[in-house]
Amino acid sequence: MARIIDVAEPLGLWDYADLAFLAPAVQALRAEAATLVPALRGRKLWMINSTPQGGGVAEMLPKMVSMLRELGVDTDWAVIQTDRQPFFELTKRIHNMIHGVGSPDFSGDDRDLFEQVGRENAEKLRQYVRPNDIVVVHDPQPAVVGAILKRELELPTIWCCHIGLPERLPVTRAVWEFLEPYVATYDHAIFSAPEYIPSFLAGVSEVIHPAIDPLSQKNRDLHTHGLVGILCNAALAVEHSPVLTPAFASPAMRLMPDGRWAPPSSWDDIGMLSRPIVAQISRWDRLKGFAPLLDAFARLKRCPRPDAGEVHRSRLEIVRLVLAGPDPASVADDPEGLEVLEELRAKYLALEPRLQSDVVLLTLPMTSRKENALMVNAIQRCASFVVQNSLHEGFGLTATEAMWKRTPVVGTQACGLRQQIRDGLDGRLVADSTDPEAIAEVLNEMLVDRNARERMGRNGQRRVYEKFLIFTQLRHWLRSLAETATR
Ligand code: UDP
Repeated sequence: MARIIDVAEPLGLWDYADLAFLAPAVQALRAEAATLVPALRGRKLWMINSTPQGGGVAEMLPKMVSMLRELGVDTDWAVIQTDRQPFFELTKRIHNMIHGVGSPDFSGDDRDLFEQVGRENAEKLRQYVRPNDIVVVHDPQPAVVGAILKRELELPTIWCCHIGLPERLPVTRAVWEFLEPYVATYDHAIFSAPEYIPSFLAGVSEVIHPAIDPLSQKNRDLHTHGLVGILCNAALAVEHSPVLTPAFASPAMRLMPDGRWAPPSSWDDIGMLSRPIVAQISRWDRLKGFAPLLDAFARLKRCPRPDAGEVHRSRLEIVRLVLAGPDPASVADDPEGLEVLEELRAKYLALEPRLQSDVVLLTLPMTSRKENALMVNAIQRCASFVVQNSLHEGFGLTATEAMWKRTPVVGTQACGLRQQIRDGLDGRLVADSTDPEAIAEVLNEMLVDRNARERMGRNGQRRVYEKFLIFTQLRHWLRSLAETATR
């Protein structure tokens, strides 16, 4: 049942303020906290979600919790748990339905299961939560928990939904009808885009963008030696000379042409440090658009471009596509992951040998969060550009992370990505993420124009600094919490 997660972040706000480029952002946060935090004294803030690792929410909670504590807000993080596998299948369906995918049906059993797991977890949390506390529930999985705590303790509750769809479809109507009895009982709701707010929550909702931590293992600067060390330690590069740091506990694994998974360096050097690299790193979710991206890349490689200049022809010759995601065995609430990876595996095995060398399908172990983050960091930095070819995207932290590193990005018209990437300024947006030909064209345009890539990289970093760093996000949260607590 519900479990409290230890949060022990190594860095405090002073460490951020020590860096010239972050000091003004920290100062603005402290100034705002000084006026808002007194309204929260004497209350504990509970952050509740469904998994301690994997996906965007689990990614941002530890830092958020630790910074809120440092600003004087007593905060804890709890994760709901169950050994009923059908619950995760149901919540995955709910997740997909909010994104507009699936059939618009629920059975009475679905509701019973959803409520039962919610009730069990709420009972466990009742041991810790006091009537004066504030409960913030993230995403639909634990929605029942907040509703029960609200009913029983009459405490302030906020529901924070990190996913959504700008369109209204029969399937989204069905899923909102399913969730309404629970989430409508909360005092306040937070969404990551205005288009995602269902009409019954319109009066109590606001928008807070997700954000990244610029000094996390995933986003911090890596000096050249550090970057090369990580690639070698993870088997993402062949060691040409000794590196100081030891091999990671588990290396990345690459799909080989014979269908086995093996450390990439056991075949050849991917060329992370020398070749043009197009990379997408995401969960293995169909909505992330891996398959059409793979098709687009194959098209780009197969299509002769006689009018291209010599340099560009060589670029197209040696460019490689890196598709990376977590080792699916390690993500508890994602039963679909394995299936999606299996489809990509089949697609890869059907490629001609030349393309098999140039398509790098990777699983990144999650056994060490730090090592996983360093691998993601290094891949995003080595990429000529990062793609996030999502059919739908709640926000798309992978794009934010790349932009912060001054790596240009190619996104799609998915609402979350449109919020971040201004087409032509911070990156490019493909018109149709399911159309390999259109995607291939954008890939080609990105590869050909180095100046444009550099300009987009610079703009992207500035945009993240202004809008999508954790300091801006926390200021919004403090305002929202103070308002909910004093209502
Ligand atoms: N991620 C990771 N390891 C992986 C794949 C993804 O740490 O092997 C991270 C990625 O860097 C990002 C998060 O998972 O921080 C995914 O968040 P995003 O908002 O892009 O999508 P979500 O998974 O929430 O739909």
